Amino acid sequence: MSGVRKGTGGGPTVVIAAHMDTVFPDGTDLKVKREGDILRAPGVGDDTSNLMAVLEMFRALNRGGVKTRGDLIFLASVQEEVGLLGARHWLENSGYKPDMFVATDISATEVWYGALRIDQFKFLYTSPGAHTMESRGGPSPAKAVAKAINALYEIPLPPIAEGLDTFKLPVLNVGMLGGGTVVNAVPREAWFTVDLRSLDSATQDSLESAVVSTARRIAEQEGVGFRMEKKMGIDYSKALPQKERLNHQLVQTALATSNYFRKPGTPEIVARDVGSTDANIAVSMGIPAVAVGATIERMPHRLEENADAGSIVPGIKSLISLAVALTSH
Ligand SMILES: [Zn+2]
Repeated sequence: MSGVRKGTGGGPTVVIAAHMDTVFPDGTDLKVKREGDILRAPGVGDDTSNLMAVLEMFRALNRGGVKTRGDLIFLASVQEEVGLLGARHWLENSGYKPDMFVATDISATEVWYGALRIDQFKFLYTSPGAHTMESRGGPSPAKAVAKAINALYEIPLPPIAEGLDTFKLPVLNVGMLGGGTVVNAVPREAWFTVDLRSLDSATQDSLESAVVSTARRIAEQEGVGFRMEKKMGIDYSKALPQKERLNHQLVQTALATSNYFRKPGTPEIVARDVGSTDANIAVSMGIPAVAVGATIERMPHRLEENADAGSIVPGIKSLISLAVALTSH
């Protein structure tokens, strides 16, 4: 869902985005519970309170009759959590070529100007199958999966990137595995997934080729069939260089507004070269992009997720300042 707030003309076009989807299954109790200043509900931080803040920002600009030179585009995206699909669809098909892109999708304590490299794969091993009684010494997709997972975790990873708080990158994770249909037979198919993440394309590309060649080598060693499916991957070959992204007025202005309105007593916000938000798609297209937050939030993607009610008003003010600054010169 998107809308345009027209400017008077001659200024840059800026997208202010937030996403509508969450990671929680149908039937999850989403009713917000308030304990003092803390608002508790799955999804309350990622991304409900940010989406609400963006809407309030537009309402405030309208109530105040604020005029900007550039157009401000409101974008409420979908399927952010399953691969940034809504933002990608909009950027590729809306007909708009924004000059800057703001994803309102993190805690107000952070400013991200990068784009995490994320590649996700499913590796499948196959065999004709056999009854357990006839299987001794024969090929086994289950055994191949076990060996492959073990081998992938033996791939040496570069040292953990510094300054990232709780993120330990680069990293690979086997998140799902399965196969077979009965206890007493060799599975005709067994599979697992890999989620591979790092900060730059060079690291990601070399890890990706190590992962794929390892998975394939195990299939050959074990005498089983092999195929892979790429579940997700973004081409970052058009992304601007790191210094250019950091020094862009978009990121520097976001840093200034976020720090000006940050909660008194909290640490100064520094811009981090990371990101796994809708801004990634803009970064990959060479569009200056940043991720910011309007509210202080904790534990996204968990049932314990919560946000500070008191952070909402300064967060909206921060967004207003950012949007007006970016579109007014
Ligand atoms: Zn999010």
